[in-house]
Amino acid sequence: MKYLKKAWGLLLLLATNSYAQQQRPNIIFIFSDDHAYQAISAYGSKLVQTPNIDRIAKQGAIFKNALVTNSICGPSRATLLTGKYSHINGYTLNEKKFDVEQQLFPALLQQNGYQTAWIGKWHLGNLPKGFDYWRILNSQGQYFNPDIIGPGDTTRMPGYVTNIITSLSLNWLNNRDTSKPFFLVVGEKATHREWLPDIQDLGAYDNKTFPLPPTFKDKYKNRLAAQNQDMTIDKTMRLKEDLKVHANYEKGIYGRFSPEQKKAYIDYYENKISKEFDALHLSGDALVEWKYQRYLKDYLATAKSLDRNIGQLLDYLDKSGLSKNTVVVYASDQGFYLGEHGWFDKRFIYEESLRTPFVIKYPGVVKPGTTINQLMLNIDWAPTFLQMAGVKVPADIQGTSFLPLLKNDPAKANWRKEAYYHYYEFPEPHHVYPHFGIRTERYTLVHFYGESNSWELYDLQQDPHEVNNLYGQKKYEALIAGLKDKMKKLMITYKDTEALKILAQD
Ligand code: CA
Repeated sequence: MKYLKKAWGLLLLLATNSYAQQQRPNIIFIFSDDHAYQAISAYGSKLVQTPNIDRIAKQGAIFKNALVTNSICGPSRATLLTGKYSHINGYTLNEKKFDVEQQLFPALLQQNGYQTAWIGKWHLGNLPKGFDYWRILNSQGQYFNPDIIGPGDTTRMPGYVTNIITSLSLNWLNNRDTSKPFFLVVGEKATHREWLPDIQDLGAYDNKTFPLPPTFKDKYKNRLAAQNQDMTIDKTMRLKEDLKVHANYEKGIYGRFSPEQKKAYIDYYENKISKEFDALHLSGDALVEWKYQRYLKDYLATAKSLDRNIGQLLDYLDKSGLSKNTVVVYASDQGFYLGEHGWFDKRFIYEESLRTPFVIKYPGVVKPGTTINQLMLNIDWAPTFLQMAGVKVPADIQGTSFLPLLKNDPAKANWRKEAYYHYYEFPEPHHVYPHFGIRTERYTLVHFYGESNSWELYDLQQDPHEVNNLYGQKKYEALIAGLKDKMKKLMITYKDTEALKILAQD
């Protein structure tokens, strides 16, 4: 009898465990590069339609204030993997070697029965760790016929990068171990500079004239850092290398084209766009505005492949029945300027680069059509995925799971009201001074340090485009003191000792 009881207990335990296993969701994280929320219709884009990204938002939730903690590529990936600020995970700048020996959350998923994979752009100067399967682009990667690095070999794969990443992902999904839940990162190269569209998307937006952003001709009054940056469409964006006017198709990024790809590019950029450009003889404002139109046409045509391929992944999940128990996230590694302040690129704490697109569907858990306005940070991504998988979140992870926000849980009342930001990369590229700052639901206070040494304050309610720097005005002194105090507390919480030292010297 005693043995029977024991055996029955064991059976029950096994049954409960396997039930719990079944309930653990699969997670697909589609992670693009430099894709601006201004270019996504779910975020109210005036520029373009993105039906498949919108599909995720409609079936789930859209985060209107998903912020990054350091607005550049590699550091954002390092923060995804660690759930920590750049000064803690050690990856403050691009083009370094990320320390993969530290705690990475995919390894914790692995140890808890998940199958993990990273496919596509990785760009961390090192090979992935914590993944059962990985196939990555070489550094920034190539748009056409990219080199794909796997364990022990590198293969040049024919075709367009977004399509290749999708087919590698679908192939992995079809051949995975179906007895385990999975976590898959689909790392996109699009929409990174130099914005090379797929052949089928060349000229996709040629019939459109895009409106100039209200701050397109910003003169950066009272803003020292903005006056000294090097990221304008006017001066920094190159006609030949970025906008493909009389590009050299024999070398560089075009050197690996197939004859058919080369012909399509020459037909479009050389025989059409470059000819039109030559005939116009542009200068001054007219030239800058022409560059802006061409920039957006290339950028949005590149983004078109992204949305189409996301649709393919979603269709696969629907058809295979995986949709029911798969969380799908679409996010970019940061926001991007599409002509606001006259810029392209990212880096600044200002809204367009601070806020990143983030939509998520989680069938059965998130109510379709949910909008979330709370301040969510990229340090929160890792702990959220761990919690979804039922894995204990290690105490040293600095973010907080946003699952209570998704579930409309009463715990969401205690959600953060202030976000801390710290950017480092200077002077190359783009000459944006290092800075740290705090973003509340209404204000942004920022300190540019080093050779710049200046402060800025914006009231986002009164001045959503951040052109009116209020710092130094008497009536804001008490507000500024309060914000500085809150920022200092966040620096202590997040152990940013370097920033604390700089703040003490100010
Ligand atoms: Ca990026």
